[in-house]
Amino acid sequence: MVTNNDEEISCPVGLTLVATPIGNLADVSHRALAVLHTADLVLCEDTRHTQILLRHWDIEARLLSYGAHNLKARLPQILSKLREGARIALVSDAGTPGISDPGAELCRRALDADLPIHAVSGPAAFVHALVLSGLPTARFVFEGFLPHKKGRKTRLASLADEPRTIILYESPYRLLKTLRELHEYLGNRQAAVARELTKRFEEVVRGHLTDIVEIFEKREKILGEFVIVVAGKGHKEESVQCTPRL
Ligand code: SAM
Repeated sequence: MVTNNDEEISCPVGLTLVATPIGNLADVSHRALAVLHTADLVLCEDTRHTQILLRHWDIEARLLSYGAHNLKARLPQILSKLREGARIALVSDAGTPGISDPGAELCRRALDADLPIHAVSGPAAFVHALVLSGLPTARFVFEGFLPHKKGRKTRLASLADEPRTIILYESPYRLLKTLRELHEYLGNRQAAVARELTKRFEEVVRGHLTDIVEIFEKREKILGEFVIVVAGKGHKEESVQCTPRL
């Protein structure tokens, strides 16, 4: 059993959001493993995906899938188990549950029902990309995925005057479209595109938006998972970032 300060770590009563790796299976905390090991039930987006992590760490757990498609149907069962005092862990396919995934909705429903929630912190793709981007990290906005159609232009236009570093999630299918639109609405800003973070083919492409577009246009196929980081309005390219100043 995993211990910390001589205290046994186990899944508490209630709903515990457990952060899991965004790629590298070693990026998981001792506490996360102990909570998954001792939970009565582990809610996950895709049972096959979560089994890869659990098998790697030799954890046997009872899994139940949840997602936008079945949350309504699953909710009464989950809430009733929580009311009975169950210890339920919630993981997503990658990173911190509740960040751009169905975990947020489940968390809100548990709070609405006055049920206890907890979190075990760990990886989140946007933080990883931000710190590797080379852009200012002191103030940033996380925009998640842009809407695909309705509201997309309004959202892009609203970012034009944003002075903080902007972080977006994007799929491989829309990467080029989004980079071109960011150029159109925000100008030729400095940016970074982080791909396949913590995985075998991890890369971070830094430069102006036009340079990055050119690089990805030349690729035969655009594959993997992506985070886009764009400099805020007024970012001075030559400024050396050092916060706090030494
Ligand atoms: N909950 C996750 C988190 O904490 O980052 C995010 C879930 S969201 C459904 C999935 C998106 O996160 C992907 O489409 C991609 O934009 C980003 N992402 C997840 N893993 C990534 C990785 N290893 N490298 C780059 N981006 C990643």
